[in-house]
Amino acid sequence: MAEVLVLAEHSGGDVKKVTLELLTLARQFGEPAVVWAGEGAADGQPRLAEYGAAKVYVADGSDFTDYVTAPEAELLASLVTETSPAAVLLASTGQNKEVAGRLAVKTSSGMLCDAVGLVAQDGKIVAEQSVFGGATVVHSAVKTGTPIVTVRPNSVAAEPAPGAAELSAVSLSLSDAAKSAKVTEKIVQETGERPELAEAAIVVSGGRGVGSADGFAIIEKLADSLGAAVGASRAVTDAGWYPHKFQVGQTGTTVSPQLYMAIGISGAIQHRAGMQTSKTIIAVNKDPEAPIFELADFGVVGDLFQVVPQLLEDIQKRSGS
Ligand SMILES: Cc1cc2nc3c(=O)[nH]c(=O)nc-3n(C[C@H](O)[C@H](O)[C@H](O)COP(=O)(O)OP(=O)(O)OC[C@H]3O[C@@H](n4cnc5c(N)ncnc54)[C@H](O)[C@@H]3O)c2cc1C
Repeated sequence: MAEVLVLAEHSGGDVKKVTLELLTLARQFGEPAVVWAGEGAADGQPRLAEYGAAKVYVADGSDFTDYVTAPEAELLASLVTETSPAAVLLASTGQNKEVAGRLAVKTSSGMLCDAVGLVAQDGKIVAEQSVFGGATVVHSAVKTGTPIVTVRPNSVAAEPAPGAAELSAVSLSLSDAAKSAKVTEKIVQETGERPELAEAAIVVSGGRGVGSADGFAIIEKLADSLGAAVGASRAVTDAGWYPHKFQVGQTGTTVSPQLYMAIGISGAIQHRAGMQTSKTIIAVNKDPEAPIFELADFGVVGDLFQVVPQLLEDIQKRSGS
């Protein structure tokens, strides 16, 4: 069976959840093999084994952390040539889309961006993409070379399956061209206790309905009770009630969590574009005609300042806290 290469997202030895999701997807199309650039592979190995990686190709020299983007593209290109995989899967991050583009050129392959699902059809890997602000779903397959696909976080639920995750060192001398952009400084972003917005399995977002910056505290409280990330509509971030980096939507972050809660959000098309592929959507809005209810799996018509405290009380009862 051909391998499916999965580029690992990791922070040192800490494997990011999206990599486990990609391993879950990869199992449908071949033998999952992780490509690990940088340090920490031995620490990450048990987690990769738990989610079905058969092999882990490790390139741990400083070249792979000191330079930007091009080393990973060269590493993947050399493995594509060596192993002729059925596909290469990467998490849809800004940097990885550049890696995928470079890899496509190097291997004369087709590339698909921002898939929210993958299926096998007539012997091909078909990607599902959500386009035009989410109004249209496109199915596409590459016609040339190895399918290179970037997949959005939370497109599938990560499911464990045992694998050997056998570590295999890769020795590769990078070209001078791959060393043309050097990392000069790394600043770790303060994220606090909450999960990252794009990665979170649960997102609780607040809209103009919260009424003020102080009113937004109820959204944080609900998010914390569920171990969720906090999101916001643009009305909230434009008003300065919450930082812009938490904006969900067409001009913010695209999320696709297992559960999305839209609290006091009308559901404008630009907001929906960033969250409508969420698996389950719950909306709380006092206006029964709010467009968000067209999209919601569960909706509560009511004042969020009455509904959310009741919800919090129930969550606390269930969690016994
Ligand atoms: C080019 C462009 C890009 C954009 N990009 C984005 C984007 O990325 N993300 C984004 O979110 N928007 C984006 N917008 C803005 C978008 O069009 C909407 O204006 C915005 O999403 C509205 O935010 P909102 O739902 O919080 O506010 P509103 O539309 O004002 O809705 C507030 C909702 O709260 C409800 N409400 C009020 N009080 C309560 C209460 N006490 N309890 C319960 N419900 C209550 C109201 O009934 C209403 O439905 C963009 C717009 C443009 C033109």
